[in-house]
Amino acid sequence: MKKSAVILILFLAACTSAGVVGDKPENIIPYEYPVPAPSKEAAARHVVLIGFDGWGAYSLPRADMPTVKGMIAGGASTLKAKSVLPTNSWPNWSALFFGAPPEVHGYREEGPFFESAVRDKYGFFPGLFAMVAGERPELSTAFFYEWSGMGHFCPPGAAGLVEHIPDLAADKTAVERIAEYLRETKPNLAVIIFDEPDHTGHSHRHGSPAYYGKLKELDSYAALFEQAVRDGGYYEDTVFIFTADHGGFLWGHGFNTPSQRQIPLIIFGKNIKKGFTIPGPVVIYDIAPTIAEIFQLTVPPVWTGKALTEVFE
Ligand SMILES: [Zn+2]
Repeated sequence: MKKSAVILILFLAACTSAGVVGDKPENIIPYEYPVPAPSKEAAARHVVLIGFDGWGAYSLPRADMPTVKGMIAGGASTLKAKSVLPTNSWPNWSALFFGAPPEVHGYREEGPFFESAVRDKYGFFPGLFAMVAGERPELSTAFFYEWSGMGHFCPPGAAGLVEHIPDLAADKTAVERIAEYLRETKPNLAVIIFDEPDHTGHSHRHGSPAYYGKLKELDSYAALFEQAVRDGGYYEDTVFIFTADHGGFLWGHGFNTPSQRQIPLIIFGKNIKKGFTIPGPVVIYDIAPTIAEIFQLTVPPVWTGKALTEVFE
């Protein structure tokens, strides 16, 4: 056996015994969602979280996004929220849904290569949908997403409705169907994640006229969702959140530069400060704890994100 092979085997053995490459069943720490007494009233009964993949904060000043800008003016926001590294989709959307960076939750590029030692009843690291379902099963939830990878961030059975809609950003009929769902079903938590403007950034360049055109189109979808919530009669009891997973530069992303790493975070609605700039620092994994704060849920102790309590009136 070659010396290098021996070293590799010793390395893998050391990693396994340290719990790095997938833990043995006896090493897994179970996490149970507490069912808290409803001591404090929720800040709002409804949250609509809308994500735009590859939406760099640098684009906001020039972007034709009247819906989003209206919520910036009337809500709490920052254009200096941070992605985690590398500035790619998988580590960042997972950080959003699991309230922690990949180093903690174990989901890295292209899949859960490094499994978490802490798992909930679904066998997942504690996450947003499972927390809501576990602590407040009476709250209804819906998850619509365009990129297939997003399906890994919601355990089967944790959300009331999960729908993968390929090409959602180019499918106005599907967008209108989601709006109709918001209007008629009135979910307590609705999460809608588009895989644009990232595709346009890769094909035409981030910050190109085509990229800004796509942002304008996405904003028109946001307007449909806002109107659906109005028509559903629960606008006054809703918090809207807009964010992204990372930005971009030229035809890509993945590096630690402001245009790739700084993402917008906009929080607007009931009990949220108006015209308020969130002082920061804010990281993408702070969003799930902030939603927990809105619903008055107990954040899993293994999360590293913190609720942005400064946004509340
Ligand atoms: Zn992305």
